Amino acid sequence: MSAPQNSRAVVLSEFGRSLELQRFPLPSAPERGMIVAGRYGGVCGTDRHLQLGHLEVPTPLVLGHEGLGTVYELGHGAKYDVDGTALHIGDEVLWASSIACGRCVPCRMHREPTLCENRRTYGVNRPTTVEPALSGSWADHICLHEGTTVVRMPEGIDPLAAMAFACAGPTMVHALFERRPVRVGETVVVQGSGPVGLAAAALAHLSGAARVIVVGGPDQRLRVAAEVGIGDEHVNIVDADGAGAQDEVLARVIELTGGRGADLVIECVGAPAAVAQGLRLARRGGSYLVVGQYTDNGDASINPHQIVYRQLDVVGSWAFTGAHLVEYVRLLPALVRRFDLARLVTIYPLEESAAALADVERGSVIKAVLRA
Ligand SMILES: [Zn+2]
Ligand SMILES: [Zn+2]
Repeated sequence: MSAPQNSRAVVLSEFGRSLELQRFPLPSAPERGMIVAGRYGGVCGTDRHLQLGHLEVPTPLVLGHEGLGTVYELGHGAKYDVDGTALHIGDEVLWASSIACGRCVPCRMHREPTLCENRRTYGVNRPTTVEPALSGSWADHICLHEGTTVVRMPEGIDPLAAMAFACAGPTMVHALFERRPVRVGETVVVQGSGPVGLAAAALAHLSGAARVIVVGGPDQRLRVAAEVGIGDEHVNIVDADGAGAQDEVLARVIELTGGRGADLVIECVGAPAAVAQGLRLARRGGSYLVVGQYTDNGDASINPHQIVYRQLDVVGSWAFTGAHLVEYVRLLPALVRRFDLARLVTIYPLEESAAALADVERGSVIKAVLRA
């Protein structure tokens, strides 16, 4: 097998402009790093925000912060994955998108690497102008640096099942294991039926929730979620037009909780207005876990009395670290035993990244994944 001289990669050159497929020379593996031959690169709502310039990132940039591939070349000193498993050429691996610096105040003092002030993130803040250019997963190869959390895929797991929640899974592991766990027997309402919402609902089931109610849409997404086994109840709020119709849907959700509201409401929508609604779906003494507002989409009008009257615990959760990815990968066998996760995925060739992004924005697919 002769080594390829270069590698294709999807590049964001200018905000708001279309993406280009470019070729870059394949570098050799860095010290204690590795080159991974990309197999799948996940498309995430964040990628659309990056393309539109909603987040401050350097360009030009190879996109893709979620990926799965096979080890192509190991750098000097790169022998094991994060778990101590020996790595070999051809091994199937996942890697965490971010590397925390370990030196800033949140890393060092607050024990919160998720809040690192100098996070380096593949596909987000590693421009092609800084070598190596191949620093995103929407490419034939990616160069992983020292300090990257690399984890070998468990035997017998369909890689597409792993990709279904590539970024949403670890995000929800962080939120549900550390910020506000689901307790056995709880009634949980999940706002949102994209990958983050469905990951929240799936993990709530695994955690022993008595009832999981998914509030989202459109119908086709909710139908697939039901077929895959995620959520006990599915309520469409996306197609409810106007405040009156939305209030009717919310009343129905309260009814489904038994009339008092949920023990735990998890926000996975990203639209600020969802927070005003979510506050009213929790029972008195319940919790509201806000995860979806990753991008700053502006202010929303809320009624703060609801927080006091309901005596709510309102908790935020931001992103994830390598440890959360490792925990997600450990959970994969339990997740796929119960849910047909691969069904959530729609595959696009690398050349069709624009179509994949458009379908994600439209909500016509649940999880778009690019195949290198
Ligand atoms: Zn993502
Ligand atoms: Zn840091």
